[in-house]
Amino acid sequence: MLNIVFVASEATPLAKTGGLADVAGSLPQALRHLGHKLTVIMPYYRRHIARAGLRPKPTGQVIDTWADGVMHACPVHEVRDHGLRFLLVEQDEYFDRDGLFGPPGDAYEDNLPRFVLFNRVALEIAASLGAPVDILHCHDWQTGMLPLLLKSQYQHYPAIASARTVFTIHNFAYQGIFDAGWISRLGIPTPHFHPGGFEFYGRINCMKAGIMAADAITTVSPSYAEEILTAEYGCHLEGFLADHKARLSGIVNGLDTHTWNPATDPHISAHYSAVRTAGKKRCKKMLQEQCGLKVSPDTPLLTLISRLADQKGIDLVAENIPAWLKHGYQIVILGSGDPATERQLRHQADRHPQQMHFAQGFNEKLAHQIYAGGDIFLMPSRFEPCGLGQLIAMRYGNVPVVRATGGLRDTVVDYNRDKRSATGIHFEAATAVAFDRAVEQAVSLYRKPATWSKIRVNALRRNSSWDASAEEYVELYERLQKGVSR
Ligand code: ADP
Repeated sequence: MLNIVFVASEATPLAKTGGLADVAGSLPQALRHLGHKLTVIMPYYRRHIARAGLRPKPTGQVIDTWADGVMHACPVHEVRDHGLRFLLVEQDEYFDRDGLFGPPGDAYEDNLPRFVLFNRVALEIAASLGAPVDILHCHDWQTGMLPLLLKSQYQHYPAIASARTVFTIHNFAYQGIFDAGWISRLGIPTPHFHPGGFEFYGRINCMKAGIMAADAITTVSPSYAEEILTAEYGCHLEGFLADHKARLSGIVNGLDTHTWNPATDPHISAHYSAVRTAGKKRCKKMLQEQCGLKVSPDTPLLTLISRLADQKGIDLVAENIPAWLKHGYQIVILGSGDPATERQLRHQADRHPQQMHFAQGFNEKLAHQIYAGGDIFLMPSRFEPCGLGQLIAMRYGNVPVVRATGGLRDTVVDYNRDKRSATGIHFEAATAVAFDRAVEQAVSLYRKPATWSKIRVNALRRNSSWDASAEEYVELYERLQKGVSR
């Protein structure tokens, strides 16, 4: 049995802005079920956690940590979800805010002190769990400094001194880049501030810190692990990453298949599965009614649930919307992000209320209803480390049309490659024309009920659980314990 500690900036069901939260909430559960001891350490986002209906209790432990010339007393709180233990770092001044990382579409100015403080307190919590920690598993730039701090400043804690660190890259595009002035203000080790370390053109890069110092680097799909070594996807770090490639591997994400299950989902109006699909029709009808669309069982209903960011290729969707509406399709979009994109989608929906609905915001319940009610799920991402939207869509028989990139390529079986096992459709070029062609193909397949039903059942049957990937992580952890780093 391994003693594994996850350190993450968000995790379901406590607080979520995207796929990292799904992973940090569900992978530890899968690892627990394999017999390991798991603790997740997270900031105490007081108002988000209260909104999630959870009531953490103080553990009595208070950790004093210095940041930017001030000593912060950080009480530790505990909450359990389905048996998984979360330890939460309280520092209301830093973490009790409306956003996790910033106002919509923006970042907080003090994100570096916030997360360096979090990393330091997390190390001290890990050091005081009562048993030596085998694995410290860190996620994305917010925990990138942790492996470096552990190796340079926290070796005097016997319980963590020999812990192995894993740094998982969920999105290479967000690197956590900050002014170099913070180095002395936060006590970050200076000897590594050079281009081969965590310096990035005179600034601090937290992603680089994680890559250089962690014992193993993983990313969330094998394709993305290869892509980020290229100039197209490497976000200016491809050369640096190449130097650390021996420690890099890709493990595809799984889903929390209890939360995402059309046979039991409490948010949807009828239940269904691969063997009993009738309920899906009812979900479509309810979605059409709820969104003010014409109730029409045979009209293709295109759906999208996403952050509205450049990465997600929403411009390719917006460009095609007029043509799709002209063809008579229906469109339901749920998302928030770039204000100009929000305005554009709102404008398009207002002009065609019977055919298109745009729900602005983050809405978990509506997301379940859209996954269940939709026929075709759109995911034209410019890059996609793994992507959970397409996994959830397949699990709900909402057939994904995806750009063949990263995890989308690895998880959706393309109809044009393998008609018998297809679970969706791929397109290659990140252009509106290529995307439209794929959507047109999806609609023409939708109009052949026997073919469509086969694709939909394949999608419904796909095993997107964590079973296989959790085993892969355990194998990696065990190799690390033996001193092998990949
Ligand atoms: P990313 O992490 O890059 O945002 P993923 O596809 O990996 O993208 O994960 C997105 C997760 O967030 C999925 O669980 C998706 O259902 C959810 N999601 C995205 N936008 C919204 C929204 N506006 N409302 C509810 N859930 C959303």
